[in-house]
Amino acid sequence: MTPPDLRRADLHLHTTFSDGTFSPAELVERALAAKLTAIAVTDHDCVDGIQGALAAAGDRIEVIAGIELTVAFRGVELHILGFCFDAASPVVQARLTRMRQARETRLQEMIDRLKTYDVTVTLEEVLRLSEHGAAGRPHLARALVQRGYVKTPEEAFARFIGDQGPCFVKGATLTPATAVEFIRAAGGVSSLAHPARFVPDDWLPELVAAGIEGIEAYHPDHSASTAERYRQYAEAHQLLVTGGSDAHGTWKTNGPTVGSVTVPYACVERLKAAAGRPR
Ligand code: AMP
Ligand code: ZN
Ligand code: FE
Ligand code: FE
Repeated sequence: MTPPDLRRADLHLHTTFSDGTFSPAELVERALAAKLTAIAVTDHDCVDGIQGALAAAGDRIEVIAGIELTVAFRGVELHILGFCFDAASPVVQARLTRMRQARETRLQEMIDRLKTYDVTVTLEEVLRLSEHGAAGRPHLARALVQRGYVKTPEEAFARFIGDQGPCFVKGATLTPATAVEFIRAAGGVSSLAHPARFVPDDWLPELVAAGIEGIEAYHPDHSASTAERYRQYAEAHQLLVTGGSDAHGTWKTNGPTVGSVTVPYACVERLKAAAGRPR
């Protein structure tokens, strides 16, 4: 009898290149400590952490190129994960450079709004907190803590920059179809991130029609029964299944840890096979 395959992968992880607090090298060490076989580095709108994770990993753990793209859909912002694409490709680099500029413009707009509340912070301070990767509201929140305007990042969201806050500015520049196409053009596959957070089930057919190839069934936001519901949906619609902890390090109180949600390594093999298939 063949022994069971115990290899596990965490396919949703953030580093200091977006809003995580672990450097790519620290993330790799945590993943090794959690005895994982593979990880995907999935920073928000940024691929710059992947190279450092690959270098730190050597042949000790497999690092998969990933990204978590923010898209606008039906008036809200959703997240789409991309996997197994060529992060160095000119398509990716050109698109992400434009998106970084859009993020900076948007941050500056939020900073300008904060000024009308006598809250002063500079764009440079906020960008420094993200290694000049994908800066967003979490970095702005931390800058406000550093300046002493609020005690915690959560307070910054509650008072100023939460989705309903007076200084919030919308950020997404992609649609689901453009995000999927972008990942595909770089040779990768896409998966709808943590659908339970924003997506009622009756939105799923339109997202699948937009070309999304997978669904993140396993995520800390999903109960066991929710995960099973998405797994069944994926099976019924021939979608890939992905999953991961969405660990961001230590900035969120009681946030998930690296390796706390995993999928069998077979999921990675299916992702790689799908990415290699002509579509
Ligand atoms: P952005 O991509 O710049 O719009 O930032 C979105 C990120 O901000 C999310 O991924 C969360 O990590 C964080 N976030 C959003 N709303 C809140 C909130 N109310 N409290 C704490 N963090 C939040
Ligand atoms: Zn995040
Ligand atoms: Fe997300
Ligand atoms: Fe995430």
